[in-house]
Amino acid sequence: MAAKKRYQMKIACPQCGCTQTSVMTAEEMQERYGDVPNIDLECGECMLKYTEEMKDACPDWDKDCKLQE
Ligand SMILES: [Zn+2]
Repeated sequence: MAAKKRYQMKIACPQCGCTQTSVMTAEEMQERYGDVPNIDLECGECMLKYTEEMKDACPDWDKDCKLQE
């Protein structure tokens, strides 16, 4: 059985600059974000709410989720 592909999300807060990374499977990505161009995030450090483009946060998912139609 092949290992499932993992997607790495990498986001940086525009205000304080702290970065967060998380690794998720395709199922988790689909459940949490789905096929969306933009995602809403909240910084764990300064609590700023901001929006990030999926193609910047996780280019792999942005590409793959469009292929899954
Ligand atoms: Zn922040």
